[in-house]
Amino acid sequence: MKTGMIRRNTKNKRALYLAALALAAVVSGCQKGNHDVVSESSEVRQKQEETLIEITIEDGSAEDETRGGGAAAESSSREQTLVGETIPAMETRDETVYVTGSDVNIRASASTSSQVMAVFQTGEKLRRTGYDETWSRVEYNGVTCYIASRYLSVSEPKQPETTAAVAASSQGTADGSVTLDASWKYAEFSKINSGSATLYKAKGDKRKGITVCVNAGHGTSGGSSVKTQCHPDGTPKVTGGTTAAGATSAVAVSSGMTFSDGTAEAKVTLAMAMKLKGRLLDAGYDVLMIRESDDVQLDNVARTVIANNMADCHIALHWDSTTSDKGAFYMSVPSASSYRAMEPVKSNWEKHNALGESLVAGLRDAGVKIFSGGSMEMDLTQTSYSTVPSIDIELGDKVSDHSDAALDKLAGGLLDGVNRYFGQ
Ligand SMILES: [Zn+2]
Repeated sequence: MKTGMIRRNTKNKRALYLAALALAAVVSGCQKGNHDVVSESSEVRQKQEETLIEITIEDGSAEDETRGGGAAAESSSREQTLVGETIPAMETRDETVYVTGSDVNIRASASTSSQVMAVFQTGEKLRRTGYDETWSRVEYNGVTCYIASRYLSVSEPKQPETTAAVAASSQGTADGSVTLDASWKYAEFSKINSGSATLYKAKGDKRKGITVCVNAGHGTSGGSSVKTQCHPDGTPKVTGGTTAAGATSAVAVSSGMTFSDGTAEAKVTLAMAMKLKGRLLDAGYDVLMIRESDDVQLDNVARTVIANNMADCHIALHWDSTTSDKGAFYMSVPSASSYRAMEPVKSNWEKHNALGESLVAGLRDAGVKIFSGGSMEMDLTQTSYSTVPSIDIELGDKVSDHSDAALDKLAGGLLDGVNRYFGQ
């Protein structure tokens, strides 16, 4: 390797380090523009991550950057943030390029295992600053990112034909299905994950660059005969609920209650989710739909991990099993100190509760009846694995009105709540 190339690598590495810091700031603040991971459906899956590149850094030490052997490469160096990332030597470019494929991932580093920053569609343009045969370095929201070179062209492509994979709706575009990536944090705790969620992008100028995960509670066939671990660290649940306090595992997805009129909760949460999806897309939010039919083979852990990696917040829709028409409330993070000291709860519980407060405020303003103070402490699998603001909202109970008009009112309140949370 020539010295010049080594120098360039070093610069790239430092730029990426800064990008990583910028990304960390964005993620921690849950701000606009934070797109996370999406399906790999149309991405180059070359064994790029296995490429071994030797890099000499300025302090004279050397380290291997092997995707698979990232742990072995880990050192006490200040560069360790970058372990596992592949830094290709690239030709310098300064040009506008156009995406030529659908659902093309833009990544934090030149590796198919690195975090997806955004998903681009045919015709969208980017500024390219570096090129090699496999990866191109581009600027996205002021951050240096990487995209597969084969999906870029310097000439603007024609409008794509509508295909089954890219189905246009009146409000947004389905950008493809999203499955659980086994490399995502906590993915190994999921037991049911053969299904897929769907990411929809808002259309037009109103697009906010904020993705809301809408999770229609229940609706996983066979979900109640499989158990998953309640907490990632194996500790027992700190509150009762569907699963008693003290249990270390719970049903992967419960079947849900049945309304007093005989309607299954899962039917109503689905109808609610579809309404909320429309409202959110109209308002310019991208929407990650966990379930759009009676059955999705994604357990609560899988739903949560997908939301963690794909969305800026996670809203699970439920109705409670009481019969008092007590009103809506959110499941707040239990105040048990052991629970709030456990990651990822420790780093996220305040955001979960803030999202819940915003949603309840939106519902209240929409004229929805609110239960007591609007919250109830509950140790949920969802909360226990969430790394983005995440809430289970109970929109009523077994005797609550779940007519179309009632769901419209709830959808309006939830949209208002989302707007409040994101300061929109
Ligand atoms: Zn429920």
